[in-house]
Amino acid sequence: MISPLSKHVTDGFVGDLGRLLTRHANRVWNYLRARYRRFRTPKELRDADFYLWIENLNKCRDCYFLDPNNGRPTCDVCGCFVETKARWMSESCPLGEWDNTVHLRQRIQDLANPYQSTNQSHQPSEQ
Ligand code: SF4
Repeated sequence: MISPLSKHVTDGFVGDLGRLLTRHANRVWNYLRARYRRFRTPKELRDADFYLWIENLNKCRDCYFLDPNNGRPTCDVCGCFVETKARWMSESCPLGEWDNTVHLRQRIQDLANPYQSTNQSHQPSEQ
């Protein structure tokens, strides 16, 4: 049940301010977690190759949750800048549209077992 007090908390200026602060706090928290995951990734594997990056960006471009944000496109779900997020190998789309961590795990596996390599280097998909 919604208490009469909650209406005053969620409506008007205080409510707007609360939502804004929550949104920015989430954004900062997501950014710090992404930074930490990137820090834990081996340096030479931190960035996606050009084709994977573009493929991810194409999926973001067609996504309902993409906010153009004056030329700095942002994901409305996680609050991240998608051009950066799509390049970092430790990241994935919060809705599962793309996942760089799968490619990262494959690369790490290939480095660990060079003679059993199942290396399927990323190629642009044919459509
Ligand atoms: S990261 Fe995922 S949810 Fe966010 S804009 Fe890209 S495709 Fe959409």
